[in-house]
Amino acid sequence: MPDLHAFIAGLPKAELHVHHVGSASPRIVSELAARHTDSKVPSDPEALVDYFTFTDFAHFIDVYLSVVDLIRTPEDVRLLTYEIARDMARQQVRYAELTLTPFSSVIRRGIDEGAFMDAIEDARTAAEADFGTILRWCFDIPGEAGLESAEQTVRLATTDKIRPEGLVSFGLGGPEIGVPRPQFKPYFDRAIAAGLHSVPHAGETTGPETVWDALTDLRAERIGHGTSSARDPKLLAHLAEHRIPLEVCPTSNIATRAVRTLDEHPLKEFVRAGVVVTVNSDDPPMFGTDLNNEYAVAARLLDLDERGLAALAKNAVEVSFLDGPGKAALAAEIDTYTAGWLAP
Ligand SMILES: [Zn+2]
Repeated sequence: MPDLHAFIAGLPKAELHVHHVGSASPRIVSELAARHTDSKVPSDPEALVDYFTFTDFAHFIDVYLSVVDLIRTPEDVRLLTYEIARDMARQQVRYAELTLTPFSSVIRRGIDEGAFMDAIEDARTAAEADFGTILRWCFDIPGEAGLESAEQTVRLATTDKIRPEGLVSFGLGGPEIGVPRPQFKPYFDRAIAAGLHSVPHAGETTGPETVWDALTDLRAERIGHGTSSARDPKLLAHLAEHRIPLEVCPTSNIATRAVRTLDEHPLKEFVRAGVVVTVNSDDPPMFGTDLNNEYAVAARLLDLDERGLAALAKNAVEVSFLDGPGKAALAAEIDTYTAGWLAP
């Protein structure tokens, strides 16, 4: 499908599930690793390819945390954020909700919280001016770090003088096994009361009951992954009826072994059940993917043509937390591009 690949490459897109540190390309990681030579992360871009090959989800978390360890100064944060936007713009990503884990950088690493927020905001405004890519933030709790990380994350996300202007949502990531969602309810309550949207990961590595917990206790407006929802017809019906979208990341699910093969991925079952789906890249360089590749995967799994792909791109715009005029402008841009492509 060479034509479809070219169509996808030029299609204006929104990305709703993508992680900050997980978007560090080998080029950026090698720069950071060269700067911080005590790290175990290789600074040679070729060695990084092997380093980024995972055996299982636990191994992935291990590698991920070693890259987190390279983000040590506000300059590291700014460089990473700005360069991520450059990579996005090359793929015609016009809008992205980037998930940041400030607990890692601010509390664990000790980067001054004000300097951290200034660094991401400075990168955000520069990226919008230089690349035309609009960035918004999701602050997520690293679930494995426990309730102290939840307390710190909600503090940074809801304290007036600290929270950055671009912050729109509140999430929960990390491993799900042994990290029950309901314990985070009080923190999500506070984030929601402060006007943030609830977007926890759920059902990525555990069963549909975790997705139910995310809906009931964390009042999720969108679900990160939600892969195991396919095993619960009642849950699928609920997601469809209440129009709660799934942020589906097919290649990520294979890389972490959450799903065995792409052909076994439940994306088609979600669509068949009437669930709103968006496709996303999660931690793209770490999984050897990018958003354009995820659209190509979706085209194959869902048998989509150009109009189908445009509709998928518009799903993401519609269920994003961009403001009304921004959504209308991006949807119109997708329509214009598609009409132009299909015109004789
Ligand atoms: Zn994720």
